[in-house]
Amino acid sequence: MPVSITPLGHDLYLVDGHMHGEPERLACYVFDTPERVVVECGPSSSLGSLLDALDELGIDDVATLAVTHIHLDHAGGAGHFAARYPGARVAVHPAGARHLAEPSRLWASASRVWGEEHMASLWGPMEPIDPERLLVVDEGDRIPLGGGRSIEVMATPGHARHHVVYLDDTTGGAFVGDAVGIAFPHGHMVQPVTPPPDFDPVLVTRQLRRLAERDPGFLGFAHYGPEPAVQESLAQAEERLWAWVEWVEAAAAGGGDLTAAMRAWVLDGYRAEGHAPEVIEQYDRATFWPMQAAGIARWLDRRDA
Ligand SMILES: [Zn+2]
Repeated sequence: MPVSITPLGHDLYLVDGHMHGEPERLACYVFDTPERVVVECGPSSSLGSLLDALDELGIDDVATLAVTHIHLDHAGGAGHFAARYPGARVAVHPAGARHLAEPSRLWASASRVWGEEHMASLWGPMEPIDPERLLVVDEGDRIPLGGGRSIEVMATPGHARHHVVYLDDTTGGAFVGDAVGIAFPHGHMVQPVTPPPDFDPVLVTRQLRRLAERDPGFLGFAHYGPEPAVQESLAQAEERLWAWVEWVEAAAAGGGDLTAAMRAWVLDGYRAEGHAPEVIEQYDRATFWPMQAAGIARWLDRRDA
């Protein structure tokens, strides 16, 4: 597996998870502190890349794997990770814990989104985690890094009910998972992530504003990497989010293939904003459009019910 490690200072490393065999698709953040903490492990299909990077860093034990949420691109490999590091606990929000202990419902739900036939090649299998090894975390909790240092948990429902963000005072990092959206390096663009079943733009907006108040030094995007333009990114995330919701609401009323129309509308918008073709292509390839349209449509149905 390819290994890519970038030091971010203060014993924090960005490790490329090489999800789906591609660079810059999933960022794992590794604290090589007295108590090692890894934020996100990705799916089991690409876990080898993270494990090889940890070997290269000389890390043979991990205290805590901290997942921002249980979606397979973030935590699908958590059971395999726990088996590889028998001393590690897996930090997860209360609403996500039982799905890591017993992944069958999560797997079934993901299969409805991605198609059963694509599950193995996209994500690889999930292994259950002994509930005693789950560290259930919620708003205000702290995960120790050792030496008096710790990361703080912020409960951030919106993208998913069980989403959390981790804050590190020392580096100023906010490890945001999918709470803000996706933002590729040099793309200068935040794109919403709006999957079913939980996506709720009102809650997402609340978290964006709470993050803006905390004013971290950088946003550690899962997809992909640290972004120092924090306030601009948060403002852009909110603006684009509601543009998407309004578009889906209007388009859904008109009928037709929402997914294809939404993709065309979003990519046209990026072209009009003057983004480079290769940047637009990168966002397009990283986006599962059926999920985006369906998540927003589902929220509109809930709202109007
Ligand atoms: Zn994700």
